[in-house]
Amino acid sequence: MSTDILVLLPLILLGLAVGSFLNVCIHRVPSRTSVVSPGSHCPSCGYALAWADNIPVVSYAALGGRCRSCRAPISIRYPIVELITMAVFVLHYAVLGADPILIPRLLLACAMIVLFAIDLEHHLLPNLITLPGIVIGLLFSLLFPPGPISALIGMLIGGGSLWLIGMAYYRYSGQEGMGGGDVKMLAMIGAFLGWKLVLVTLVFSSIAGAVIGVMVIVLRRGDLKYALPYGTFLSLAGLVASLYGVRIVSWYVGLYGP
Ligand SMILES: [Zn+2]
Repeated sequence: MSTDILVLLPLILLGLAVGSFLNVCIHRVPSRTSVVSPGSHCPSCGYALAWADNIPVVSYAALGGRCRSCRAPISIRYPIVELITMAVFVLHYAVLGADPILIPRLLLACAMIVLFAIDLEHHLLPNLITLPGIVIGLLFSLLFPPGPISALIGMLIGGGSLWLIGMAYYRYSGQEGMGGGDVKMLAMIGAFLGWKLVLVTLVFSSIAGAVIGVMVIVLRRGDLKYALPYGTFLSLAGLVASLYGVRIVSWYVGLYGP
C-alpha cells in the first residue's frame, strides 16, 4: 500500500503535467505551429501565461475558467484533457503494474488522447504524429513486447486492412470513406501493440463505429456525415487493446481452444 502511494503520487503529477503538454499539442499541431515556443498565451488578449497560470487543473479552478488579464473564458477542454491524461496514466499502472512496458504504452496513450481530440475537432489525423509514431513504435519493439516481428506484422496488418477497406469502399461507392490518416494511425497502433492486439483494435473500433453510426442515423434520421470520425474510435479501441487486449485474446482463444 505504501509503495502504491509512493508510485501513485508522482504518477498523478506526471499525468497532469503531461496532459498540460498534450493540450498544447492538440491546440498547435493542426495549425503546424511549434509546440515549444512561444509560451502559452491567451488567445483573446495575448496575455503571456505566468507559471502560476499554468498549473494543471488548479489554475483553471482558481481563475474560475477565465483569463487573468481580460477575463475571457478559457475552454473547459484544458482541465478535461489534463484530468483524462492523469486518469489514463493511473489506469495503466493499475492494469499493467510497475512494468517497463509502461514506457511505450504511456507514450502510445498520449498519442491516442491527442489524436482523439484533433480528429474530433478537425476531422484530421496529422502525419506529424502518426508517421513518427510508426517509427517510434517499431524502435520500442526492439526492447519491449511484442517484439520486432510482431510489431512489423502489426503495422502491415493495421495499415493494410484499413487501406483495403478504403479501396473497396471507394470502388463500391465512388467516394472516400476511409482517410489516409486512419490507415497510418492503425499502422502506428500495430507497430506499438503487435499483430494480435491490432486485430483487437480493428474489431473493437469497427463494432463501436457501427453501433454509434447506426444510433446517429436512427436518432437524427441523418446520414453518416454526422457520425463521429473513425479516428476517435481507433483511439478508444487502441487504449482498450493496450490495457486489456491480452486478456481479451486469451479469453477468445479459450472459447475455441481444447
Ligand atoms: Zn486574455
